[in-house]
Amino acid sequence: MDLEDEKYLVSTAMIKHGGSFVKSLGEALTHADKSNTLKIKSTWPEYWQKYNLKSCIDCGNPANKSTNPILCNTCFYARKRTNEDGVE
Ligand SMILES: [Zn+2]
Repeated sequence: MDLEDEKYLVSTAMIKHGGSFVKSLGEALTHADKSNTLKIKSTWPEYWQKYNLKSCIDCGNPANKSTNPILCNTCFYARKRTNEDGVE
């Protein structure tokens, strides 16, 4: 995954799930160029790690990384049920 993709994932998750400071950091990230992105990443590696989440493609919540396509458990089972009912 390149830095731009990571930055997008991290900033989105920070804004969505973070407390007030982390949320602001996420906002700052959306305006950061490559050099500032790297500074944020190296200054707060623990936040970067925590919010570098894969997001469910259906609802945007943190996803179960082992599913393909990437889905959270709720959407994974919802799709599974739909498929078994033969609706799709
Ligand atoms: Zn979902």
